[in-house]
Amino acid sequence: MEHKRIYLCLAHMSEDGIELQYIKEAFKSNWVVPLGPNVSGFEADLEAFVGHRRKAVALSSCTGALHLTLLLLGVGQGDEVLCQSFSFCASSNPVTYCGAKPVFVDSEKDTWNMDPVLLEKAIQDRIVKTGKKPKAVIVVDLYGMPANWEALEAVGKKYDIPIIEDAANAQGSFYDGQPCGLFGQLATFSFNGNKIITTSGGGAILCDDEETKKHTVFLATQARENAPYYQHEAIGFNYRLSNISAGIGRGQMTILDAHIRHHKHVHAMYKDLLEKIDGIKVQDNPSDKYDSNFWLTTILIDPSVKIKGQENQRTIYSDCEPNDNVEALRVFLDQRGVEARPLWKPMHKQPVYQDAPTYVNGVSEALFKVGMCLPSGPYVTDDDVRYIVECIKEAME
Ligand SMILES: *Cc1c(COP(=O)(O)O)cnc(C)c1O
Repeated sequence: MEHKRIYLCLAHMSEDGIELQYIKEAFKSNWVVPLGPNVSGFEADLEAFVGHRRKAVALSSCTGALHLTLLLLGVGQGDEVLCQSFSFCASSNPVTYCGAKPVFVDSEKDTWNMDPVLLEKAIQDRIVKTGKKPKAVIVVDLYGMPANWEALEAVGKKYDIPIIEDAANAQGSFYDGQPCGLFGQLATFSFNGNKIITTSGGGAILCDDEETKKHTVFLATQARENAPYYQHEAIGFNYRLSNISAGIGRGQMTILDAHIRHHKHVHAMYKDLLEKIDGIKVQDNPSDKYDSNFWLTTILIDPSVKIKGQENQRTIYSDCEPNDNVEALRVFLDQRGVEARPLWKPMHKQPVYQDAPTYVNGVSEALFKVGMCLPSGPYVTDDDVRYIVECIKEAME
């Protein structure tokens, strides 16, 4: 039987078409530019969502947002930035845009995010090797799971090195009762099509004061000085979010809570149904301190688990690959209309970063070999979850 395809996480608009209302208003008033009432309105909504504890700047992507956070912290040529290796490339690529060098730090077992002990070792070693402190640290709340913020912020404070929170996956996650987006000196969100909410493409910086917000907007709009003509004293960027996209964002903010509830519900269902299967482990909050939005539910597949077809020849793309049973399960699910994907391949195993210094403990590479992301987005129904679990069982028979 042909099954409708089930995707990891698709964009999903509000039932009432609130997004369209905001877009129509933008058309009516001809605010079809990268500023306007939807941009300010979306920023106000984002600020309210983090309890008015930070200012928000809406931007065209989280990648651009991360680039600007580095510039705000003065990162430039010859600097080093410590980056979480276990993440999407957008967490570390912006370091290279600044002419600086990423140095990769491995993850801890519980959260899969940057290991605070290894971070301190890396800082000490970089000081010995280069004679200066790393300029900043980029920590990720991967798959929505908050990082170990108490320990990481303590290390940042001890060495007086600013931390950037890449909360691209973690809008609506909480650590110790505080929403993600409030950690580090600066934080970023993503509103790409596959994230918790979307603006079709977009991102934001969360910063502590109005002055930083103003300077961020200045940098994001070509660093245009206050003059009747185009006067420039610095290099700027075209990173502002359009008023049309921000209209989608305002509509999406009305269903953000529902999206978060849905991702958590899907995770709880997977956990309940997969717990009984030997050799499959669902990633979960390590303690009460952690409250993940479970943007994607992720599972670990023990190497002892036998999957149909795993002995078949497969295409090998590099010298660091998921295990045979993981790849066989991905193919099996794909043939049954289910999109599944390996975990992020650690950046320190990417050819493009082969020369970057790394501080590893083996955790992220081991997770990459046994891990898999399962469909978790707003369009994934209870029946879909049951179907996916049945497919996994069938693959194991
Ligand atoms: C998606 C993502 C980004 C980049 O977001 P864009 O808005 O697509 O630029 C950065 N970091 C992580 C962890 C992501 O998943």
